[in-house]
Amino acid sequence: EDSSSLTVAVRVRPLNAREEKIGNIRCVVSMCDKETTVTKDNGSKQTFTYDFSFWSFDKHNGNFSDQERIYKLLAQPLLVKAFEGYNTCLFAYGQTGSGKSYSIMGQVNEGRNEIGIIPRFCEELFSRVDHEVTRDSEMVKINVEISFFEIYNEKIHDLLASSKEKGGKSQLKVREHPSTGPYVEGLSMYVVNSFEDVEGWITLGNKNRATATTGMNERSSRSHSVFTLVLTQTRTDEVGSQKNDPRRITSKINLVDLAGSERQSQAKTEGDRLREATNINKSLTTLGMDSVLTWLLKESIGGNSKTAMLATISPTNYHKEETLTSSIVNTARVNEDPTT
Ligand code: ADP
Ligand code: MG
Repeated sequence: EDSSSLTVAVRVRPLNAREEKIGNIRCVVSMCDKETTVTKDNGSKQTFTYDFSFWSFDKHNGNFSDQERIYKLLAQPLLVKAFEGYNTCLFAYGQTGSGKSYSIMGQVNEGRNEIGIIPRFCEELFSRVDHEVTRDSEMVKINVEISFFEIYNEKIHDLLASSKEKGGKSQLKVREHPSTGPYVEGLSMYVVNSFEDVEGWITLGNKNRATATTGMNERSSRSHSVFTLVLTQTRTDEVGSQKNDPRRITSKINLVDLAGSERQSQAKTEGDRLREATNINKSLTTLGMDSVLTWLLKESIGGNSKTAMLATISPTNYHKEETLTSSIVNTARVNEDPTT
């Protein structure tokens, strides 16, 4: 069942207002089932196969993938796994402006249809928690904690720090706990009891992220944001009238909005990237994760955990063609081993 531990998807966004205005911009991407095809400037085509190719270019197309569909197909399976006790990670990867934040967070003030993976995930998580606890409040206790931070220049900034610490400004360090592994020392972690609780923190985190990046394009494109949920389920089994010792299952869920992919080195050939994309740990380096992030997530990716990657791409020939192709190739799921 190894094939299901990593899911790779690509999503193409609509033209933005600026692109519409320029006019005469071709959509160079087409999709058919799992396949994404990019037409190069010279007319040649390249096709890549993913677990999902999400068409979000035009709403009138029958295959249009909205925020709900992306959540259902990509993130909901991670939620199911988390309740089974697995660590899970979801990454959004792509050039600046390609739709990473729109997919991961969405436009939280623009109505239900526009909200992204994080709020949808939290909402469903709490509806499942309520369901489990209502079914058996004696035997099941569920605790949910969240944190939200940003990594910029290999430094960690707490996005939920209390206002007197000037939210998001404090710099934290990663440490290694001998039994529980890497963690961010001093990071705010909050127990949340409802979706409304989480919404409040999401709003604060987004505000702090926006404040930190105001007037700093570089920072907004070069920072990763990591939203973490820690789900702890404590269950007590009853055999006859005898209660067994409680069993505790803890799962970590990381929802990551990666830095813009344009920052990574162009030194690698497409063949290298294709090969590396077949190996989760290598592909994370290929995807431009910095060492702090790789360290922090090392126990949440690979092994028993379940990971999803969403490569977001722009539909146009306006952006440099190589960057578009390399985003796609980076995350391509290959069916054949290219080395043979
Ligand atoms: P990134 O985080 O990759 O830099 P954004 O998510 O901020 O890019 O997207 C850039 C702009 O395009 C934003 O205004 C966003 O709302 C819009 N956008 C991106 N993807 C979509 C989409 N699938 N549907 C509608 N608008 C989108
Ligand atoms: Mg963004």
